[in-house]
Amino acid sequence: MSKHFETNSIRINPSKSNQKEHSSPLYLTSSFTFDSAEEARATFADEIEGNIYSRYANPNSTDLIDKICAAEGTEAGIATASGMAAMFGSIASLLQQGDHVLAARSLFGSTHQLLTRVFPKWGITSTYGDISDIHNWEKLVQPNTKMLFIETPSNPGLEIIDLEWAGNFAKAHNLILVVDNCFATPYLQQPAKWGAHIVTHSATKYIDGQGRVLGGLILGTEELMKEVQFFTRHTGPAISPFNAWILSKSMETLGVRMDRHCENALKTATYFEGNQEIDQVKYPFLKSHPQYELAKKQMKLGGGIITLTLKGGLERAKRFIDQLQMISVTANLGDSRSIVTHPASTTHSKLSEEERARVGITDGLVRLSVGLEHIDDIIEDVEKALNRSK
Ligand SMILES: *Cc1c(COP(=O)(O)O)cnc(C)c1O
Repeated sequence: MSKHFETNSIRINPSKSNQKEHSSPLYLTSSFTFDSAEEARATFADEIEGNIYSRYANPNSTDLIDKICAAEGTEAGIATASGMAAMFGSIASLLQQGDHVLAARSLFGSTHQLLTRVFPKWGITSTYGDISDIHNWEKLVQPNTKMLFIETPSNPGLEIIDLEWAGNFAKAHNLILVVDNCFATPYLQQPAKWGAHIVTHSATKYIDGQGRVLGGLILGTEELMKEVQFFTRHTGPAISPFNAWILSKSMETLGVRMDRHCENALKTATYFEGNQEIDQVKYPFLKSHPQYELAKKQMKLGGGIITLTLKGGLERAKRFIDQLQMISVTANLGDSRSIVTHPASTTHSKLSEEERARVGITDGLVRLSVGLEHIDDIIEDVEKALNRSK
């Protein structure tokens, strides 16, 4: 293994088949054969290594996991059918009835639904803390608190949580620190370096990077991942070999793609910053971001997402979205194609207005996932839409 992200993401591959292929093949098979009854027994008993059944593992999912583990600096992992299967699995496998989760309030919409509507059914409760108020989090820890769950940068508020603080806080209170690293990707930030025990991903976003397949990852220490692997083996959120194959190929270009996403996003954010039609633009690597210094400390670059509040609130935001010619209106992000989303009426519509207000999602807020088109075309599209939506 190299010490360089780019090399590992390209050169870690499953061992060659007897065809000696250069590019790793797709192992579209549900199960794997044994040469004897004894080999089958020993493989099931974990006495020898080998694939058994694609719900447990498959060369394509193992390949993806090996690459991401190298990138994140984690010991072990599991790939799942979607990001939400990873979020669910990371919590459900490690906690039990009576346990409590402390979470940052700014969470992905469906993760919020898990914590507030799904886990309480099984006696797992949670409390939210505000990122702007971290010195008060001590008071939120209960005797049964077992996990600290955070997302940084957050979706869509782009709030940054100090990973060093989170690592120390989790250690001091003996909590399992889980970080959803979807927005940053391991190219920009590695939470395990700061003490995260578990790192989760929606691979659907930047890891795929072209809006094709769903996928998720749970990564972490060998010890905790044993529990997670037991859980996923028997509950069945396995990724399809095809999706794992796509995502493993995508890892080869993650670094160059992220460099360009971040470059285009910074240029677009800088364009908006000087614009009279904009009330607020938020981007982690703009000096105007309230946590600019922190973002610089823990992220290599600012990421590909910008949020905007247009002058004229909800109606203006809708007109702006309707006037975009090239940029797509869709719920995904992290795609090669630039995407605009209106969180209050779509991804975060299930939250109450008060819940949205507390995580900074106003009715006029627009989320822009800056893609890989030429920067001049991206800026021309938003500029025209700003003018036409006046
Ligand atoms: C999209 C997303 C998820 C959920 O992932 P899916 O692949 O859509 O299931 C979780 N967390 C964050 C931060 C996301 O953006």
